[in-house]
Amino acid sequence: MNVQWYPGHMTKAKRQMQEDIKLIDLIIELVDARVPLSSRNPDIDELGKNKSRLILLNKSDLADERQNEAWKTYFQAKGFYVVKVDSRNGSGMKAINNVIQEACKEKIERDRRRGIKNRPIRAMVVGIPNVGKSTFINTFAGRACAKTGNKPGVTKGKQWIRLNKGVELLDTPGILWPKFEDQQVGIRLACVGSIKDDILNMEELALWLIDYLRENYKGILAERYQITEEGTSVEVLEAIARARGCLKKQEELDYAKASLILFDDFRSGKMGRITLEWAPL
Ligand code: GDP
Repeated sequence: MNVQWYPGHMTKAKRQMQEDIKLIDLIIELVDARVPLSSRNPDIDELGKNKSRLILLNKSDLADERQNEAWKTYFQAKGFYVVKVDSRNGSGMKAINNVIQEACKEKIERDRRRGIKNRPIRAMVVGIPNVGKSTFINTFAGRACAKTGNKPGVTKGKQWIRLNKGVELLDTPGILWPKFEDQQVGIRLACVGSIKDDILNMEELALWLIDYLRENYKGILAERYQITEEGTSVEVLEAIARARGCLKKQEELDYAKASLILFDDFRSGKMGRITLEWAPL
């Protein structure tokens, strides 16, 4: 996870994706339900034009359910099929099979008209690093899956995982690069843990999260840490440090430690289900 991107990587990833997309009917794009736009790369819209499109709001278990619904509506209005999923516990997986058939009905119909029988729908999973691609593939394909495609040593072809209902999934996901140009996007991705923590200023990020939570999820910090949310964001971080006994030697408060606790609680869902990006109405 947490791939570092350089222009060379992006060009290579894009070229690979262009090649893979030629082989498939359907793009299954994973986004992080807590940051649905920030975790997308719109280049995929250009790369994937003329393909059936399914967006999975992954990690929906960690996101605000009202916002999940709002985002679903938002993406559906843009012409995507959308399913909310939790790739870790498997919820939403059943719905996907039917949606795939629906999303590919034109292809199925075209095959039928041409007299082609039982050609499986071919799909690939794409998304930015850490969005849950591997977890999804493992859960969705499950144990029942069988790898198809070429026998090793015979041809160096693509490996496909055969799913039920005539669907085949490319076994390696396409990795999209995040949009780093936008600083707010970077901040949101950092909050959900999709950018390496060690290249970030966690305390500054904690202050951003504190302000966001106070504005959009009033009372959530007060409840979690038994503190008051009043004052500056630094004062709130200080209160969290005190509440959790984050102290350095000379009784000095350890803001770095408090920030880590805050992010651990947020990312694991212990604070509640929180979305960091509101669906445009
Ligand atoms: P990839 O880089 O896109 O392949 O992402 P991974 O599959 O490695 O997942 C990144 C992290 O997110 C892992 O710690 C997963 O356990 C976690 N994860 C993936 N899907 C979900 C989900 O739906 N819900 C939650 N809570 N965690 C998830």
